[in-house]
Amino acid sequence: MHWADVLADKLLKSKKKHVLATGITPSGPIHIGNMREILTTDAIYRCIIEKGGDANFIYIADDFDPLRKVYPYLPKTYEKYVGKPISDIPCPCGKHKSYADHYLNAFLNSLKEIGVNPHVYRASEMYKKGEYVESIQIALENTVKIRDIIENISKRKLPKNWLPFNVLCTKCGRINTAKPVLYDFPIIEYVCDCGYEGEIDIRKGGVGKLPWRIDWPARWKMLNVTFEPCGKDLATVGGARDTGAKIVEEIYKYPHPALLVYEFIILKGKGAMHSSKGTALSSEEMLKMTPPEVLRFLLMKNQPERHITFDSGIGLLNLVDEYDKEERVYFGIDEENKGMKDLKKTYELSQPYQIPKEIPYQLPYRHLVTLIQIGKKWEGVKKILIRTGQIPDDLNREDELYLKQRTEHANYWLKMFAPDMVKFEVKEKLPDMSLKNEQKDFLICLNDKLKSIIWSPEEIHNAIYEASKETNIKINISFKTLYQIILGQEKGPRAGYFLSNIDKKFILARLTEAVK
Ligand SMILES: [Zn+2]
Ligand SMILES: [Zn+2]
Repeated sequence: MHWADVLADKLLKSKKKHVLATGITPSGPIHIGNMREILTTDAIYRCIIEKGGDANFIYIADDFDPLRKVYPYLPKTYEKYVGKPISDIPCPCGKHKSYADHYLNAFLNSLKEIGVNPHVYRASEMYKKGEYVESIQIALENTVKIRDIIENISKRKLPKNWLPFNVLCTKCGRINTAKPVLYDFPIIEYVCDCGYEGEIDIRKGGVGKLPWRIDWPARWKMLNVTFEPCGKDLATVGGARDTGAKIVEEIYKYPHPALLVYEFIILKGKGAMHSSKGTALSSEEMLKMTPPEVLRFLLMKNQPERHITFDSGIGLLNLVDEYDKEERVYFGIDEENKGMKDLKKTYELSQPYQIPKEIPYQLPYRHLVTLIQIGKKWEGVKKILIRTGQIPDDLNREDELYLKQRTEHANYWLKMFAPDMVKFEVKEKLPDMSLKNEQKDFLICLNDKLKSIIWSPEEIHNAIYEASKETNIKINISFKTLYQIILGQEKGPRAGYFLSNIDKKFILARLTEAVK
């Protein structure tokens, strides 16, 4: 049985109605670990629904958290915002409502493509609307107990006047610099590092927030959360998950949600670091470079407890090939692979939306990676495919959209992450170069042969070999010469196949021009 079915069954055994929670603090590009959290939960959510259970899938953005520091991807001018809630800070590009939305919105939009549509909550709104007021009051009434729980479990000493509440300073707008002096319901008096002394009324929304270790369990109760996975970094002994479980049961009188600890996604390959910005690969980029069904497949075929290596280099092409191969197995075209467990469910959970009734039109992804460099955009690629008879003129709309979408992902990958060895550019003009006589003889002879053949990979391939033999030039020099006059580099994709995808007239004209 697939791991998502096993987990869904386990949840349904205890009750029929579930709230599956995921979340993020959108203080920067969203980490790829969060992608695993979301897709893992989405799989369980789908299985619960399929089994006739009732489930709600939610995503909580902790956008009332302070900006911790000026991250490397931020301008120095952000120094003045450190300590303020990220929902109250202006966005770096000027196009979003806030700093938090800058990172959150783009990510949420791209989730649609991958077929994930959670109900989104923003902590800033929940606090400002006063939805937390009761939880805050309960926390403050239980300050001593909460303090004991945190100190005992986390082995961390809390300051003398500690309260389970972080006041938002009315003067400077920071949420991590005010120290409470006195709490007398409903008032907290505080002094802030900015020099301001004031007081707030906890019955009003947005005057501060619960510290993370209390916020998390409070929210479990408020939103009736029954399941929330977490990365192994948070699930450590004495970590927030440990203290949260105790606080939710003893203070908020609510059973702690079922836990699933997922492993990290490890990055491999040259593209793992974003060289221009010095930040690690983000979730959004992972989505942009990988076809959605393939990214889902990577997560679905691995148990959550197993780490995943994501290779943003050539490994990505292998991953797409693997997906296509399993798709052929699913539709009974290829033989089953050894070692692939639960293929049927894995394939079905890999689909962003509907499960296809027939196999989608498959075009080898590596081939697409070559074609996109000749045709630039989908329209250009489509023209080549039709001209060379690789797709029918009347390709159905669904298949076309599917290939178009894959082209867009291949394009992003090429631009941002592909290793140089797969990259090339068909030069509009003959590159600057000088050819030896033997190279010219070869090109003249080849030109002659190409004129009369059918423009197919095999015939072109044979013509290159024949011309090379007749003019007594080494075959590797022949290939090199061809790549030089067309691409301005010494290597390129397999020549016969490559040239067959370029317009014949263009190639003949280039060969003629090169020997002038
Ligand atoms: Zn922005
Ligand atoms: Zn202040």
